[in-house]
Amino acid sequence: MTVLEQGNITIHTENIFPIIKKSLYSNHEIFLRELVSNAVDAIEKLKMVSHAGETSGELDAPEIQIIMDKEKKTLSISDNGIGMTADEVKKYINQVAFSSAEEFIQKYQSVAEGQIIGHFGLGFYSAFMVAQKVEIDTLSYKEGAQAVHWSCDGSPRFQLEDSPRTQRGTTVTLTLMEEELEYVEQSRIRQLVKTYCDFMPVPIKLDGEQINRQKALWRESPRNLTKEDYLEFYRYLYPFQEEPLLWVHLNTDYPFLLNGILYFPKLRPDVDVSQGNIKLFCNQVFVSDHCEEIVPQFLLPMRGVIDSPDIPLNVSRSALQVDRTVRRIADFVAKKVGDRLNELYRDSRPEYIRCWQDISTFVKFGSLNDDKFKKQVEDIIIYRTTFAAGDSGSDTPTVQVQSQEGDAWQDVTPAGEQTPKLPYTTLKEYLERNKDKHSNRVYYCTDEVAQATYVELHKKQGLEVLFMDSFIDTHFISFLEREYKDVKFSRVDADLDQTLLEQDKAGEIVDPKTNKTRSELIKELFQQALNKPKVTIRTEALKSDDPQGTPPAMVLLPEFLRRLRDMNALLQQQAVEFPEEHTLVVNTAHPLIQNLASLSQGSILQGEGTSPTSELANMICHHVYDLALMAQKGFNAEGMKSFVERSNQVLTRLTQRAI
Ligand code: ADP
Repeated sequence: MTVLEQGNITIHTENIFPIIKKSLYSNHEIFLRELVSNAVDAIEKLKMVSHAGETSGELDAPEIQIIMDKEKKTLSISDNGIGMTADEVKKYINQVAFSSAEEFIQKYQSVAEGQIIGHFGLGFYSAFMVAQKVEIDTLSYKEGAQAVHWSCDGSPRFQLEDSPRTQRGTTVTLTLMEEELEYVEQSRIRQLVKTYCDFMPVPIKLDGEQINRQKALWRESPRNLTKEDYLEFYRYLYPFQEEPLLWVHLNTDYPFLLNGILYFPKLRPDVDVSQGNIKLFCNQVFVSDHCEEIVPQFLLPMRGVIDSPDIPLNVSRSALQVDRTVRRIADFVAKKVGDRLNELYRDSRPEYIRCWQDISTFVKFGSLNDDKFKKQVEDIIIYRTTFAAGDSGSDTPTVQVQSQEGDAWQDVTPAGEQTPKLPYTTLKEYLERNKDKHSNRVYYCTDEVAQATYVELHKKQGLEVLFMDSFIDTHFISFLEREYKDVKFSRVDADLDQTLLEQDKAGEIVDPKTNKTRSELIKELFQQALNKPKVTIRTEALKSDDPQGTPPAMVLLPEFLRRLRDMNALLQQQAVEFPEEHTLVVNTAHPLIQNLASLSQGSILQGEGTSPTSELANMICHHVYDLALMAQKGFNAEGMKSFVERSNQVLTRLTQRAI
């Protein structure tokens, strides 16, 4: 072998190798990604020169081979790419690689470790993080080229000589340092290839077996992909997870290059929305699992892949956040997600509704945080509603495919069949539909079980109630009130709408001595029996064709006070306790209350004082109140105990009377 050249690598820093070894300490493994990337590039370059007609003969199928020798402690990466001539080795390795190494190290040292996404683009010299000696054996594709062998032992000295190599391409061989012998372990190399090189577009072989997936779905045209392709890819990226709800294929080359596929996963309620799940790639090379700086925060729970060579990867994370291209990319991603949701809403309403439970959190959170996104989705935010076609005067339910102005939606049903309803509506539709009954007022429910009585009452009187029961809705209601300044939101248990009440029924005078009305009598009865100054007693006759079907009493929590309390509890991170100050509405139209009034009146007329009858009336007052609290989940352990005890006493009394 003829020694072509021996010399010093031209670098300005005294010796960069110790710096490479030390300063990049934590992330040694990425050398493999860098060397395999170079091999892929060499293969791509060969393809290009071959297309340009600059190669002679057939090209072999492109491939990269990884070979390990435990005894010799060597790891080689071989490609059948473009290769290098002696001059190119001098230029690209001795000069370019090492001068950019120096530059990189300087830049890198000014940014704290761990701050850089993926330590990207360290290049060829990153091999020196793990190797005591690096050799390059290479034969250029050029006609009559002489193969060369370059070696360097980790000092700035190198040696370049002729090589007997006859195969076009390059083999980079690392003789590993003692403390880096993990890189001659098959399992470790497999794992690294899977992490960093899985989607590189060339087969990577270990012992003749291809160990990378190679196909990067996001690089393909959406037109050629089926639903199954997307699902299969998702399962590959996130094994053992539930199927995603929908996905967005990102594809742009202006003003930046970006490809990707983002999936909306099914969200578990305990999802950590601050943790990113999207994988960042640069030209199919894996960079990082942490994309927090690149996608808008509200989209962080999305999953999938973003691939862009235009994201600066070797700046600090804080610099990344303010980078113009990165900001544009974030806007682009949000816009595409918004477009996809609008498309689904427009073209596949039942599908949209099916996904809504899970995507609503994204959409609402996004609206709260991103003004542009809000504008995009404000008309497709939907709410479950008590409304059903056929209500409010329309006597023949119509089958409809999509929403019409002022109506809630139903599923697509063949004509003549009973319509299964998908009762969802937008806020605009709600307001439009109810503008005559209660203009600019929205009745909502935050807990379908606890507020069932109230919802039922509204429903019976044809008042439409929206379900706003996800954890984000408390904030979202305040946000909506800021957005729609005229619109007021009242929870179903905040107050009773006039339409729910019968006027003047309880006005008849029942006590000639005191001129008291039945209503006043009932109120006094409850005040005395309960003896709770903080509870306001109000008597009303609830409207109903079947008074037995209405509740005898209800607890109301004024909207404003309740919100204040919720807010305080949130700030102090305490559970919301049921407020002592509330209103008990006693329904004077209910037979139980009427019986109770007669019972008490009888005892008063007979001047019985603390007779068994008045005691029973007293107990029943407590009981009615407890039942109303119970319906509101406003019951504590103490309350439950006395309720059970009293129930038994009341039943004993009643059975005694019956005998
Ligand atoms: P970069 O890949 O970012 O240009 P590197 O330091 O990794 O920087 O490599 C420097 C140069 O060395 C490459 O641009 C390329 O010209 C050459 N090179 C490195 N590896 C190979 C290879 N396997 N085959 C052909 N040329 C290579």
